[in-house]
Amino acid sequence: MYYYSIALSRNLLPPLVYHSKEKIEDGSRVIAPVRSAKRLGYVVGVVKEPTFKTRDIIKIVDEKSLLNEMMIKLAHEMAHKYISPIGEMFDLFFPPSSAKNSRRKSKKNKYITLKSSISKLLNSRLGVRETELVEYLLESNVIDYSIALKKFPYSTIQSLLRKGYVEIVEAEATSALKKRIYLNDGQSKIVNDVISYPLRPHLIYGVTGSGKTEVYFEIADRVLSFDKKVLLLVPEISLTPQLLSRTRARFPHKNIGVYHSALGQSRKIEWERAVNGKVDILLGTRSAVWVPIKNLGLIVVDEEQDESYKQYAMRPYYNAVDVARRRAELERTILLLASATPRVETYYAAKEKKLSMHKIDFRPVGKMPKISIVDMRHRKGEILSNELVTEMEKVARNGNQTFLFVPKKGFSTRIQCQDCGYIFTCPNCDVALTYHKAQGIIKCHYCGHAETIPQKCPKCGSSNITHGGVGTERVEQEVSKIFPGLRVRRIDREEINNIESLERVLRDISQMKVDIVVGTKMITKGLDFPRVALVGIVDADHVFGLPDFRATERAFQLVAQMSGRAGRGVEGRVMIQSREPNNVALLSVIKGRFNDFYESELKRRKALDYPPFRELILITAEGHISNETKKQAEIVSEILKPGPFEILGPVEASIFKLISLYRYQLLLKCDDLPKAIKFLTIHLKKGALGFDPAGVLKIDVQPYSTF
Ligand code: ADP
Ligand code: ZN
Ligand code: ZN
Repeated sequence: MYYYSIALSRNLLPPLVYHSKEKIEDGSRVIAPVRSAKRLGYVVGVVKEPTFKTRDIIKIVDEKSLLNEMMIKLAHEMAHKYISPIGEMFDLFFPPSSAKNSRRKSKKNKYITLKSSISKLLNSRLGVRETELVEYLLESNVIDYSIALKKFPYSTIQSLLRKGYVEIVEAEATSALKKRIYLNDGQSKIVNDVISYPLRPHLIYGVTGSGKTEVYFEIADRVLSFDKKVLLLVPEISLTPQLLSRTRARFPHKNIGVYHSALGQSRKIEWERAVNGKVDILLGTRSAVWVPIKNLGLIVVDEEQDESYKQYAMRPYYNAVDVARRRAELERTILLLASATPRVETYYAAKEKKLSMHKIDFRPVGKMPKISIVDMRHRKGEILSNELVTEMEKVARNGNQTFLFVPKKGFSTRIQCQDCGYIFTCPNCDVALTYHKAQGIIKCHYCGHAETIPQKCPKCGSSNITHGGVGTERVEQEVSKIFPGLRVRRIDREEINNIESLERVLRDISQMKVDIVVGTKMITKGLDFPRVALVGIVDADHVFGLPDFRATERAFQLVAQMSGRAGRGVEGRVMIQSREPNNVALLSVIKGRFNDFYESELKRRKALDYPPFRELILITAEGHISNETKKQAEIVSEILKPGPFEILGPVEASIFKLISLYRYQLLLKCDDLPKAIKFLTIHLKKGALGFDPAGVLKIDVQPYSTF
């Protein structure tokens, strides 16, 4: 008989011991009994026969473990680092539905993918619906057969199958006709440097549009020629359609996989293809860093600065960039970070020679845009300045496009009674409600609470209610009023709520069916449209004002990234409306001297003891009763007092009440992060506190933000 330590899936407890007559590999999935239920678990090790009675493993899911030794090591290390149960870490290696579907594994899902080359498709005459399905596949790679049946007539699918343009089950390479790009000297040098030092982490620090993508494509090409696989991470799902078609065009004979949370059923299929070695390049978001691809040769993290790499809304709170870095080390693959605006920590690590930094200062095609600030001081109530409107008019006359960035969605973001000063806030959260005019409601962006717009102040009964704070909807209305003849589109989570509608609007923009785009953060990154001649940042100050140590860095990145959307194919201009025109971060973007920003920010961080000089751990106690929660935070603070860190708090979190939970925070500043983690691991165990820490405490190691 063998005895195994089994970490249960979605479980906060330490591993439990079970037995089996079979020999099972570490990392294998098994089904184990828990009381009267059957649960998915992972073998984390063989143990000696325990003194207590154990139960029999019901079923072995993986005859051979899909995880190699290094991946198992990675899971253990990350569980330790992020103070998370090991079972939760193992969950990350598998697509989310694996727990439920593992028993029906033999029943394969059918899906459709392209079979024929693009050139052949272009030369063939297809029906309207056939073309639609083919276009869909060109952008999303695969479609679930059952979904295809709902979207397209059965006859369309059959006819494409008969003609051999598509096939069911497995993907094959497609090819695209695209002119070949020859790297310039600077780009080639980076490729050579990286290939010469494959075991050092590398950062490509190049302005937007400087050819970073072409550089990592070339490195990927070399890696693929050694029969190794490539993992390509992007921060957001919205960036995958564009990069996918570009990757496909660059590697027409390779199998490309896609992995992110919006895939539904095909997520599992893509995962299986990748794990079975059928994918050469896997393109995915944060969660893709865990896909147990064998024979990995390169991990690319594009836009490494992006906060989406940090999982903070859901356990475990890991940062995919750090996971990528460690995975690359363990599996001895090349690690490549790319960014026009790296994190301050990453910049510092490069300065300290902990990673190699490769700079690119110019665009191979197109010029950098001209950037200017529009001083908005003393201009009350003006949403779009005359300067910006005049420029927009010019751009439209030349048949080019304008992108306007607005930090918040909705119409107005502050609804206030003019007589008593009351601000309409969410009953569940400590935040102001946003007015959504199109829907005629006021809404909370944190918990989704919505109500019809009140006619009277609930506090004093006055009907003198005003709208302050400008959101995308308001700007859209304003723009439509000023330019009634132009086609305006809004891109925010309210308007664009699935990948299809996103793809549609991106296609419309590239086909020049849109003149002006008004959007939130969704339009800041990665998008590459040649005809954007003007970028307007409607309100830069809002981002600087957030109560967080990273606010300046965020604002700098946002302004720089947003500026990067301009001038790719035509001459570009950027206009930043701000009431703080002498801000260092803004000035460094305007002058194109990014290092000024990094140096000044490093000085500030050092003075304030923030990362990268000291590491942070944020502990948040959450509960329904404010006093109880506060008491728990105080108990934790008391226990942590002798620890190797400085403790700030407990204080009320900046958003004190969120989704009906009161929140108290402790911020730990640590000189030695591993030591601090060890202390927390030992002292915050169940029992030590008189309550279960996992239930009420959120422990975020190296949080991305502190509010
Ligand atoms: P980044 O990833 O830094 O934003 P990209 O790799 O997307 O930059 O390059 C921006 C544009 O310049 C793309 O259209 C790309 O095809 C083009 N480009 C990049 N390198 C070269 C080159 N060496 N020669 C010609 N065009 C290039
Ligand atoms: Zn009032
Ligand atoms: Zn709310």
